[in-house]
Amino acid sequence: MTKKQVDIQRLEELDKKHFLHPTTSIKEQQEAGPAFIFQTGKGIYLEDMKGTTLIDGMSSLWNVNVGHGREELADAAKEQMAKLAFTSCFSTFSNEPAILLAKKITDLAPAPLTAVFFTSGGSEANDTAYKLARHYWLLKGQPERKKIISRTKSYHGVSMGATSATGLQGFREFTKSLAPDFHFVDHFDTGALRRLIEAEGPETIAAIIAEPVQGAGGVHVAPKDYFKEVKDICTQYGILLITDEVITGFGRTGKWFGMEHYGVIPDMMCFAKGITSGYVQLGGVMISEQIHNDLKELSSGTLLHGYTYSGHAMACAVGLKNIELIEKENLVENARARGEQLLKSLEWIKSERKIVSAVRGLGLMAALDFVDQNQQPFQPPVSPFIFKEAAKLGLICRAVTLNAQDTIVLAPPLIISKEETEKIIHILKEAIKTVELNYY
Ligand code: PLP
Repeated sequence: MTKKQVDIQRLEELDKKHFLHPTTSIKEQQEAGPAFIFQTGKGIYLEDMKGTTLIDGMSSLWNVNVGHGREELADAAKEQMAKLAFTSCFSTFSNEPAILLAKKITDLAPAPLTAVFFTSGGSEANDTAYKLARHYWLLKGQPERKKIISRTKSYHGVSMGATSATGLQGFREFTKSLAPDFHFVDHFDTGALRRLIEAEGPETIAAIIAEPVQGAGGVHVAPKDYFKEVKDICTQYGILLITDEVITGFGRTGKWFGMEHYGVIPDMMCFAKGITSGYVQLGGVMISEQIHNDLKELSSGTLLHGYTYSGHAMACAVGLKNIELIEKENLVENARARGEQLLKSLEWIKSERKIVSAVRGLGLMAALDFVDQNQQPFQPPVSPFIFKEAAKLGLICRAVTLNAQDTIVLAPPLIISKEETEKIIHILKEAIKTVELNYY
């Protein structure tokens, strides 16, 4: 064995012994060890320690939007860290990158969203939104308004509040004991939403939370009028609308924010991931000017909610540079154009391969569903096998099997070119073909 092989083997053993991976089968990790120990990344590509190169067809976790290896972001981080990495934003302390980023993202967002609360990620952003909504109603003299309505197949994160708002069953069953006052309706069923509100009592509902495109749940794109109807229901019953733009924010769907496709403006908008393209941890909630004013007018004391890293100077400096890159390189438009190409090509795969039953997507979020020749679900699902075949051929995608789905999803970086998109399609088609031939 070469020294490099010895080093890799040692790391694999250390990984098994000491590294408890997020969202991973511990058994599989213990038996097989890490499939890839990534070492470098450039553009849409990742390379592991063994020299294997893969297309990062998921932008890692839907977040590396400007691609890997961007020196500009490394420079922005270094420069800010050397000057001032971190200082408190509690009380009336502040810092320049946090101020400028708050200004920048509220300029990009629809006009009524004027103020930002920063967090370190998406779960914290969603928890913040639930707490702000409930606090808001307390201040407004409606303490009974504390219920949050979410949707089946939704994913809002893994902190206690965010898991309690998550509709994907596996995550809910992880501990079973969850936070109270979260309720669920089937996604896209506004009749069921109205019935739930009436059954619970409209005066007890604080907010509805929804992803513009359900991501981890299998890339479910809402019908054209769905969110307008949801917003009308919110207005009718005086309920706040919180949108979770953790995946869809900052260009992924071909617009700056996913809700722009539906012409709906929320009262609060949660974001994370794409704000820094995953280079450092950052998230937050934008709130409307009206909520901001009410919180100011009605509150007599301190807003007792704040994370140590709320408004982290270095993270915000990276966020600013990342947005500059998205603007300069026209990546929102590229996401739209490449997204159209991707969807069209996936439709072509569907026409070629019998086991593909449906294709959907918006911008650079896309999905394919699978069924057997009798239009019945495969047992076991085929998507994990397709995922493995695709990885062998050099493509990372994601298999979704939660909530009885059998789906492959894709979300490549927004910098992807036409030719690179074709490469993804080619590999995916081959992977599906291999699996289909083994199942028929
Ligand atoms: N909301 C959505 C829509 C997400 O997709 C995610 C993560 O994938 C989260 C929230 C949670 O974000 P984080 O993992 O940064 O806490």
